[in-house]
Amino acid sequence: MDGKAHHLEDQSVLEHDLELGRVFQTNLTMREVAQLKAPTIQTAEEAILTLKIGNARFFSGTQVPSDFSAVARRAQVITQTPFAVVLGCSDSRVPTEIIYDQRAGDLFVIRVAGNVVEAGTLGSIEYSINHLKTRVVVVMGHEGCGAVQAAMQDEAKRSFESQYIQFLIDRIVPSVSNLPRIRDSKARMREAVIANVRRQVHQLKQNQVVADALQKKEIAVIGAYYEISSGAVDFLESERDLSIDDSEVSE
Ligand SMILES: [Zn+2]
Repeated sequence: MDGKAHHLEDQSVLEHDLELGRVFQTNLTMREVAQLKAPTIQTAEEAILTLKIGNARFFSGTQVPSDFSAVARRAQVITQTPFAVVLGCSDSRVPTEIIYDQRAGDLFVIRVAGNVVEAGTLGSIEYSINHLKTRVVVVMGHEGCGAVQAAMQDEAKRSFESQYIQFLIDRIVPSVSNLPRIRDSKARMREAVIANVRRQVHQLKQNQVVADALQKKEIAVIGAYYEISSGAVDFLESERDLSIDDSEVSE
């Protein structure tokens, strides 16, 4: 888009700034968020806001019709410019683009059981940061994650799994081996999934490419929890939300 078009949209830019402030500072309902206009994405904050607005549309059933026409596809042949990377789980109930109501070309999606950080997923994330200039990396866990559940079983049971299933589970075990005592099983699972998200975010930040981009403020790295039953995504954005120091964690 050229400068002229931006100039014509001055009013909406102003509205967008107001809306950006509203989402970050007030408790809007999902329905209200769904009606906000998605910003032109240049910053990590705008990328996160776009994900929030898209999920609010999905949550409230007001999705924008998707354009997979031949014309739309051809327009994307030369290059891709996704604004966000999402490291999510392979679970069939967690389709990333649908949850965030985004189109082809919007999201760089990596899916692996348990949304774990390992060589393959790290390589994909490094690529998206170095070559695609994405603005935010989201590690997204979800309600009822089977991989996290498997990692919560005792070692004897886990040892019956095949080699590469164990490889994945081993990447989750440290996240769930020291959970606070929670009696309610649903709440306990949620805590386990979020603990895994926090630890994977922590792991991701140890990566040099990620750390450099963070330091230059080119990207944000955040966590997310997708609740299958409601369709809502909860975002973990602050240092406190993402702290893996158990003594600081309170839900
Ligand atoms: Zn899962």
